[in-house]
Amino acid sequence: MARKMLRFVQVEQRFPDKREAADRRRDFEEIYEDYEPLSAAEQAGRCSQCGVPYCQVHCPVNNNIPDWLMLTAEGRLEEAYEVSQATNNFPEICGRICPQDRLCEGNCVIETAGHGTVTIGAVERYITDTAFAKGWVKPIEPPVEHAFSVGVIGAGPAGLAAAEQLRKQGWQVTVYDRHDRVGGLLIYGIPNFKLEKEVVLRRAEMMQRSKIAFELECEVGRDLSLAELRRRHDAVLIATGVYKARDLMVPGVGQSNVVAALDFLFAANRTGLGERVPGFDSGLLNAAGKQVVVIGGGDTAMDCVRTAVRQGATSVSCLYRRDRANMPGSQREVANAEEEGVQFLWLSAPEAVLGDKQATQVRAAKVHLGLPDATGRQAPQVLEGSSANVPADLVIKALGFDPEDLPVLFNEPKLAVTRWGTIKTDFRTLSTSLSGVYAAGDIVRGASLVVWGIRDGRDAAVSIDRYLREKQAGLRQAAE
Ligand SMILES: Cc1cc2nc3c(=O)[nH]c(=O)nc-3n(C[C@H](O)[C@H](O)[C@H](O)COP(=O)(O)OP(=O)(O)OC[C@H]3O[C@@H](n4cnc5c(N)ncnc54)[C@H](O)[C@@H]3O)c2cc1C
Ligand code: SF4
Repeated sequence: MARKMLRFVQVEQRFPDKREAADRRRDFEEIYEDYEPLSAAEQAGRCSQCGVPYCQVHCPVNNNIPDWLMLTAEGRLEEAYEVSQATNNFPEICGRICPQDRLCEGNCVIETAGHGTVTIGAVERYITDTAFAKGWVKPIEPPVEHAFSVGVIGAGPAGLAAAEQLRKQGWQVTVYDRHDRVGGLLIYGIPNFKLEKEVVLRRAEMMQRSKIAFELECEVGRDLSLAELRRRHDAVLIATGVYKARDLMVPGVGQSNVVAALDFLFAANRTGLGERVPGFDSGLLNAAGKQVVVIGGGDTAMDCVRTAVRQGATSVSCLYRRDRANMPGSQREVANAEEEGVQFLWLSAPEAVLGDKQATQVRAAKVHLGLPDATGRQAPQVLEGSSANVPADLVIKALGFDPEDLPVLFNEPKLAVTRWGTIKTDFRTLSTSLSGVYAAGDIVRGASLVVWGIRDGRDAAVSIDRYLREKQAGLRQAAE
């Protein structure tokens, strides 16, 4: 129902004529008619309990999906919640934003048999939303309290999952983040229409009630050095994500209405949270009434095009230099964007941003995909004489992210990084080159997924827990 309501608002914004809006609204209703007919229990009951849980194998946190589907089908929701939360710190978040078509649902045997997947993500979300509503989600109360503490840098999914797991073991945990709210990309990156911010804030509040401390608006490297953090805590986890936006290298890209994807999405999310954002108020980061061109083909690009539609853009085009099959983003997201009227210009490589002071058009050439390169992907090759101009009042660059230079930012040259700039870790323990310092999430694997961040955070917590127990035992022995 919530999704239908959202469409209604969008339709009203885009079609001020009431009769046209009514027609469009009917179109959207048709889209969703066969989308929500089954209750969670009915959906869960469609699981065949096939005994070959490909869904579970393809879930990065190895969720025990068949068991919680069965419990849900039987109406034993509290038990379903217990099973679900045992492997995933934020099931209500993954249920909303995992690209299930590539993970659990894409591997459901009912889906592969051609009967349509069990909507695993929707059931997962329903279980934990119900658990919150019924008061089954409780603050963590560890059986013992230890004096040792852990400093976690980054309040995104990786840092938060680790913080919860460590707190469950009784360690004292402080999470540091340069932003003013908890959640990392969950709060300011991923748009509200995919992940309502109340869901993230509800989790953050539960973590505070679990006596996990947060030091917000504290940037490590600026307000506090890594060395100081290592002195304060017995172990440190780096979970800072990747934020260096890849730039567009074409003439005219410096015009003021050519903006970075995260600037656009941060402004939309902050505005949605009720804040005044000067860039949004001035119109620079607001797509309303504009012809918007988004450049890129990943999930960030999809979030930009769909946000622009919701803000009331007059047209939204997405330029991507490969074809649909080679797009890194979720196919489900592409289909959603297409439904909403986004025009995809596949096999289009931007050549220049045109305009005098302000961008007015993007010139793009057609490409074809040549032989696979060293990475195994077909390299795009420009077709001579194929250039065409796409009108643009707002150009959004969504070409992906690289890690920031952490050894420099943290003034710690001994922190080893890979040739891509991600932090080098022992893959079994997630320990870094610095004693007692671990790393998890995007800063280790490069831009990835929330559920992988959770998995890494949980894995790092196991290693940190072991490290602290050994340290504690060593101190005890020395004292005896
Ligand atoms: C626009 C967008 C949409 C996405 N949509 C999806 C989606 O639908 N589904 C999905 O699964 N994944 C999605 N992703 C990917 C997903 O958000 C990330 O993989 C995930 O958030 C990574 O978690 P993390 O904890 O490693 O880092 P982050 O979530 O990036 O959190 C890192 C935190 O560290 C903080 N930090 C950084 N440096 C410092 C410092 N020096 N001092 C203090 N704090 C610091 C940052 O402020 C941030 O809060 C999306 C990503 C983007 C950009
Ligand atoms: S965590 Fe993600 S992949 Fe795993 S079951 Fe939930 S939605 Fe599917």
